[in-house]
Amino acid sequence: MRLTQRIVVIGGGVLGTMHAVMARRRGYEVVHLEREGEARGASVRNFGLVWVSGRRAGAELALALRARELWAELGAAVPGLRFRPAGSLTVAADDAELRVLKEAAALPDAVLRDFELLDAGAVRTANPALRGELAGGLLCRADAIVEPRQVLPALRGYLAGDGYQWWPGREVTEIAPNAVRDHTGAWHHCDLVVLCPGAVFTGVVGRYHRSLARDGVRRVRLQMMQTAPLAERLTTAVADGDSLRYYPAYDLPARTLLPPQPPVAARTRAQLLMVQRADSGLTIGDTHEYDEAFAFDVDSDAYDHLQARAEALLGAAIPRVQRRWAGVYSEVSTGSALYHRSEPEPGVVLVTGPGGRGMTCAPAIAEETFR
Ligand SMILES: Cc1cc2nc3c(=O)[nH]c(=O)nc-3n(C[C@H](O)[C@H](O)[C@H](O)COP(=O)(O)OP(=O)(O)OC[C@H]3O[C@@H](n4cnc5c(N)ncnc54)[C@H](O)[C@@H]3O)c2cc1C
Repeated sequence: MRLTQRIVVIGGGVLGTMHAVMARRRGYEVVHLEREGEARGASVRNFGLVWVSGRRAGAELALALRARELWAELGAAVPGLRFRPAGSLTVAADDAELRVLKEAAALPDAVLRDFELLDAGAVRTANPALRGELAGGLLCRADAIVEPRQVLPALRGYLAGDGYQWWPGREVTEIAPNAVRDHTGAWHHCDLVVLCPGAVFTGVVGRYHRSLARDGVRRVRLQMMQTAPLAERLTTAVADGDSLRYYPAYDLPARTLLPPQPPVAARTRAQLLMVQRADSGLTIGDTHEYDEAFAFDVDSDAYDHLQARAEALLGAAIPRVQRRWAGVYSEVSTGSALYHRSEPEPGVVLVTGPGGRGMTCAPAIAEETFR
C-alpha cells in the first residue's frame, strides 16, 4: 500500500518547479513533467528580478515580500540560484520623474519596501557605474536578483533523490482521474495534478478555457537583449523613469504630470530595466505587446530606444549586444486576483497568469497552493 501522497506537476517553469519544492517540503512524492528537453518559456527568458519595489500596496506587496523571504531562504540552501540581495535603483532623469519618486518614498509602506530617496550624488555613490545625467533615484533595498538560466536546474538538483522524479521531453496529452498520460502513452498515477502550463492555453489546457476566462488570463510578449560582459560592477538593478508609468506602486498624483513617452517607447510600451548577470553581461529590456497574433520577429526600433536609455544612464556605450530574444508570459487581466488558481475538475489544480511578477512571486504562490 502506498502511504505517501503523490503529486504530478505539469510544467517545468518556475511555477511548476516551485510547486515541486513546496510539495516535497510537505512530504509528498513528486513526478514532474515538462514537454521540452529543458524549460524554454518565460522562466528562463526573464531578468531574474525579485521585484518588490513597484508592487501595488496591500495583497500584491505582501505576496512579493513573502516570496522575497522564500527566495532568500532558498538562495542560502541552493547556491546555484545565485540569489543576490542587490537592491534596485529607479532613476529619475528630470524633476517630473523625481516628484513621483518623492511621493513613492513617502508612501506608508515605504519602510516595508526599504525605500530611500537619493540625490544624484548619492545615486552615484550607491551605483558608481551610473555616470549619466540624472536628477535622483529611489533605492529599494528589498529588490533582489537570481540567475534565470540557472534557477530551474539548480532547484531540481536540490530536489534530486527519493521522492522526486523529473521527466523532461514529456508533453502531457491527457488528464484522467488520478493520472495523466504523456505523449509517449505512459501513464503517471497520482493523488493530485498541479498544472502550471505558463502561456500554453491549448492542448491539455484547452478544456479549462472557461476557468482561465474567469480571470481574463491573456498573453503578453516582451523583447529582451543581453550584452557582453561590462568591465565594472553594476551594484544594483536599474530601472528608468518609464517604469514609473508601468508599476502600480507609482500610481501617485505626480505620475499624472509626467510628459508623454517618446513615440517609440509609447508604441512598444517600453521601460528600461537593466540587470548585471553573474557573468557580468547586462540583461536589458523590455517592451510589452498585448495583441495576438504576436509578431514573430523582433523590432529594432525598440532595441535602439532601450540601448539609448541604458547608455544615457551609464554615460557610456553598452558592451556589444550578444543575444536578443522575445518571451511570452500569461497574466490575469480582470478582477483583483494576482494570478489564476482554480480546480477546474476534482484533483486538478491549475496555476498560471502571474504576469510580470511570476519570477518574483513563484515561491509564495506555490506555498499558497499547499496551504
Ligand atoms: C521577457 C520576460 C521578462 C520577465 N521578467 C521578470 C522578472 O524579472 N521578474 C519577475 O518576477 N517576472 C518576470 N517575468 C515573468 C515571469 O518570467 C513569468 O511570470 C514566469 O516565468 C511564469 O512561469 P511559469 O512556470 O508559469 O511559465 P513558463 O516559464 O512558461 O513555464 C511553463 C512550462 O510548462 C510547459 N508545459 C506547458 N504545457 C505542457 C504540457 N502539456 N506538458 C508538459 N509541459 C508543459 C512549458 O513547456 C513550459 O516550460 C518576465 C517574463 C518575460 C517573458
